[in-house]
Amino acid sequence: MKKDTILVATGRNKKYTGTAVNPRIVRASTIVFDSMSEMAKAGSQQAYLFDGDSNASEYYGRRGTSTTFAFNDAMCELENAAGSYVYPCGTAAITSGLLSFLSAGDHLLMVDSVYQPTRDFCRGTLARMGVEVSYYDPMIGGDINALVRKNTRVIFLESPGSLTMEVQDVPSIVEAAKQHDIVTMIDNTFATPFNFKPLDFGVDISIQSATKYINGHSDVMLGVASANQRHWPQLRDRSYELGQCASVDDIYTALRGIRTLGVRMREHDRNAMTVARWLEQHDLVERLLHPAFESCPGHEFFKRDFSGGNGLFSFVLNNSNARAVAAMVDNMRHFKMGFSWGGYESLILPIGSAPAQRSVAPWLLDRRLIRLHIGLEDTQDLIDDLSGGLERLREAL
Ligand SMILES: *Cc1c(COP(=O)(O)O)cnc(C)c1O
Repeated sequence: MKKDTILVATGRNKKYTGTAVNPRIVRASTIVFDSMSEMAKAGSQQAYLFDGDSNASEYYGRRGTSTTFAFNDAMCELENAAGSYVYPCGTAAITSGLLSFLSAGDHLLMVDSVYQPTRDFCRGTLARMGVEVSYYDPMIGGDINALVRKNTRVIFLESPGSLTMEVQDVPSIVEAAKQHDIVTMIDNTFATPFNFKPLDFGVDISIQSATKYINGHSDVMLGVASANQRHWPQLRDRSYELGQCASVDDIYTALRGIRTLGVRMREHDRNAMTVARWLEQHDLVERLLHPAFESCPGHEFFKRDFSGGNGLFSFVLNNSNARAVAAMVDNMRHFKMGFSWGGYESLILPIGSAPAQRSVAPWLLDRRLIRLHIGLEDTQDLIDDLSGGLERLREAL
């Protein structure tokens, strides 16, 4: 099946849907049994949670109901994974993935362009647990070998990087990790499995903030981690011990989002390219940080490994200050300010100065970096809005 067909067909096993098109929403804490043998069968280790062969059975609400299994089934198929576990948000998927494989005394190699809350978790909980963390340049490639220690247990990737969009050479890093039997995990939120399937590139665990494009409508928080055969049992059992589970209403909504993922991704991509090409010509713009443009570090890996882009990119102003940025972003018509991205609406996020943002290289972009999420609006309306904003910025410089 081609990938657009999979988006329509996946997670729609008859046992989830009955006679309807979509899976049923099954809300439950308690699942009731009529006999000891039924209860024992449902509770057996092999049967609980999704194992990639649709054999999960309902046992207790925390283990998920058929709505959860339908979603896990879909995520497994999209990520080419042995198993997928669902969490209440992307951050919980990331922290549970790390906690599933790291112990006191272990060393973690973390990409320097990582999402800020992942960095906060390293500085907080992982430090308190006695896990050593060192950061590496996102463009390091195979040279990551030199940073590996005897106790390096996990290499964490995020590609493209948060805010600055560096695209990593995933195969080279995976090759180095395999030489030392190190577990690799990637935050794959940007690409979604529609545009990049990390497990096909040898990564062990792929993590999604399904809050973003998977759900796609800015109304649900959800996370997923998908693992290959070797790492699935450990990810599943440790995540379950942590008590991770999510609301079936949110899961149902995210599964509905998957149906239009391909249509939305292509449209976000097309709109973002139109706006980015306009910005590239603007005299106040120093450069674009958009993976499809040569000015973005790792552009060659984007072309090599990804099958498409989306609506998220950043640009660097050639001159700026706090007052000018406020003049630009205050009172935009279509671009509202807000965290998250991946919904149908456009967003603008001015990045101020935050010394915690990078460890390997100094942060040189104080008040000059602006991140955009290009939604599904008409691009001329978006360009007019940005044009007005940039003129207000010019006047305030
Ligand atoms: C938003 C985001 C997350 C966190 O997801 P939540 O669902 O908000 O917890 C993780 N990684 C990336 C790259 C994100 O953009």
